Amino acid sequence: MQTAPTLTIAVLPGDGIGSEIMPDCLELIAAATAGAEGFKLDYVPLEAGAALFERTGEAFPEEVFAAAADADAILLGAMGLPGVRYADGREIAPQLDLRERLSLYAGVRPIKCLPGLPPVLADKRAARLDFVIIRESTEGLFASRAQAAVEDDYVARDTMRITRPVCERLFDFAFNLAAKRKQGGRPGQVTCVDKANVLGSQAFFRRIFDERARRYPVIDARHCYVDAMALNMVKRPWDFDVLVMENMFGDILSDLSAALAGGMGMAPSADVGDRHAVFQPCHGSAPDIAGQGKANPTAMILSGALMLDWLGERHGLIEAQTAAARLTAAVETAYAPGVLKPCEMGGTSGTQQIFDAVKTRLAAN
Ligand code: ATP
Repeated sequence: MQTAPTLTIAVLPGDGIGSEIMPDCLELIAAATAGAEGFKLDYVPLEAGAALFERTGEAFPEEVFAAAADADAILLGAMGLPGVRYADGREIAPQLDLRERLSLYAGVRPIKCLPGLPPVLADKRAARLDFVIIRESTEGLFASRAQAAVEDDYVARDTMRITRPVCERLFDFAFNLAAKRKQGGRPGQVTCVDKANVLGSQAFFRRIFDERARRYPVIDARHCYVDAMALNMVKRPWDFDVLVMENMFGDILSDLSAALAGGMGMAPSADVGDRHAVFQPCHGSAPDIAGQGKANPTAMILSGALMLDWLGERHGLIEAQTAAARLTAAVETAYAPGVLKPCEMGGTSGTQQIFDAVKTRLAAN
């Protein structure tokens, strides 16, 4: 008899609210996968981040990176604290090291408004928001982040790096995602968000987008300048399906779109490469609310669901994809009655109340 494969999950809770929301999230993932006969999950706890740096002088030891890279998937809470920095002033950010070193070029940030929560925008169509930002996560304007940029205390430079192989994989990822979503009833549209009217690097980005678009004739390929997209995100976000952009633009617009779903605590993410993937909420360690029980764990839970879905697709494990759907449905049905309202949306539902509501729904399904 064949034994069920064990999938290892590297677990990096990190700093601030990251370490507060991780344990219950692991419990929910375990509950969603309980009863699966085709695979097992094995959590590998690992430490990295600002707290570790403060204690040891190292934020991301090589053996921790190696263990994470060795796992089937990486689940990350949040890392970095404003007061804890490297000597050159940069914040501690092992999550960026992971994206770059593991070539996780596609930062997937799905935005959906959950039923039962008041929409942030007044228009009725805002209740049906359902789009995905694909943020290139290995180069762009973040590419020179580790290089000292200030010369003679007079001039500073950061370089936007755009390369053809990364763009081709990125755009293929976006078009394939749109094709998959089209099967589920979405419009099958990809919008390239850029600044091609001003920057040569961005004109190159757009040119490669157009080249790749020709391979996907059933997908509606569009362009929008990033400044216009900031406006559109607020005026008519329901008109978009898949949006693809360089690293820094994606960093900014994904925070804007998280606000449309209710706040940073509502926005899950996956950083996906050809072999590895990291799953973490879009938010940071939120030191301003850490330790107060106010953190919204929804984005962390939904990131866990994205992980199960990715593992299921990658390893051909239907049960993992079913578990992902169960976990997502438990979140949606927990919010649906309109009782939960996270603190970040002006409500009083704290971390534990939200976890408990999702746990109850999961047990009931
Ligand atoms: P980073 O640069 O590390 O991504 P950031 O600068 O985007 O971090 P966050 O830590 O995400 O900052 O916090 C931004 C704001 O959103 C803060 O006011 C924080 O309290 C709030 N916030 C972030 N995550 C959550 C959450 N899960 N629940 C409630 N509020 C949150």
